[in-house]
Amino acid sequence: MKALCWHGKSDMRYETVPDPKIQDPRDAIIKVTACAICGSDLHIFNGVIPEMESGDVIGHETMGEVVDVGSAASHKLKVGDRVVVPFTIACGECFFCKRGQFSGCERSNPDKAKAEKLWGHSPAGLFGYSHLLGGYPGGQAEYMRVPFADVGPLKVPDGLSDEQVLFLSDIFPTGYMAAEFCNIQNGDTIAIWGCGPVGQFAIRSAILMGAGRVIAIDTVPERLEMAKAAGAETLDFMKDDVYERIQELTHGRGADACIDAVGTEPHTTASFDSVVDRLKVATFMGTDRPHVVRQAIHCCRNFGTVSIVGVYGGYLDKIPFGSAINRGLTFRMAQTPVQHYLPKLLPLIEEDKIDLSVVITDRARLEDGPELYKKFRDRKDGCIKVVMKP
Ligand SMILES: [Zn+2]
Ligand SMILES: [Zn+2]
Repeated sequence: MKALCWHGKSDMRYETVPDPKIQDPRDAIIKVTACAICGSDLHIFNGVIPEMESGDVIGHETMGEVVDVGSAASHKLKVGDRVVVPFTIACGECFFCKRGQFSGCERSNPDKAKAEKLWGHSPAGLFGYSHLLGGYPGGQAEYMRVPFADVGPLKVPDGLSDEQVLFLSDIFPTGYMAAEFCNIQNGDTIAIWGCGPVGQFAIRSAILMGAGRVIAIDTVPERLEMAKAAGAETLDFMKDDVYERIQELTHGRGADACIDAVGTEPHTTASFDSVVDRLKVATFMGTDRPHVVRQAIHCCRNFGTVSIVGVYGGYLDKIPFGSAINRGLTFRMAQTPVQHYLPKLLPLIEEDKIDLSVVITDRARLEDGPELYKKFRDRKDGCIKVVMKP
């Protein structure tokens, strides 16, 4: 089959790789009908994710048609079913899965030992996301093997198109979770850093949950426009002093909750901490660039919540913990336990409460993937979200 394979920094190739096969009775194989490039794939593309190997098939936002099912998954899926596949791989039976914390699954990451060394404990395995998290071939491919297929995949009801449901695989549940972490009370002010696709769904979810005001922060004009269209007020961090503006908008109190939908590779601004982060990473003195977390803490009101869904990998320097402890902030963060959210989110689509396709700016063939990675990274021609069909 054909797939998008990673071969090093800025080097994606459309190549022939072996067809996936059932390896365990709980596996299924799907023929991919649509897949997307995630903002977190850009961290791989940019070479900042450890334990990647040349030739790895990446991609974790995937849906398709079941073409083969193992004997232990056949009570849940049959050949011909259309499914969306969550990016978190989960067994459905362990301590964490039983609690709905699927992204903490203790049985789906065969690279557990490596993850424990880095993080103390291992999270779940993920599709297409390095040999720290299972080394599972991803879904930017013609076919994909789905482990624990009796637990993960969501059957798509008839009448819903691929574009209406594809983002249930990751970015909609992730944006929704980011807003849910904020425990929004009627009329709250929620500030959201990053108006990429996850930020867009966080904005829309916050409004659905009753936020009175959403302040969206980015610098890309097309993303700010899209945020505005959803009902957010926008700040351009290259033009506005974000802290000062949020102070003005909240009568000096700060936002009730702040969401980081940016993660480890923010745009470098002229701020001192942002420049120092960049230098540290360039000289291997640091792993992450947490400028957004710092700013979110400063902009959050006393006893407010900082909700983090942007991806970080290692050790974050100069986090203003003094500000957080003295003012009683709550931190919430996670890789999304997608399976936990699906029963709640599918109805929002069916009832037309949200249209996931609004973020799609580019539709293309899988073979155009290598070029699309560059376009998406450089946010060229208003590119916000890419969907590909094999
Ligand atoms: Zn993702
Ligand atoms: Zn589990």
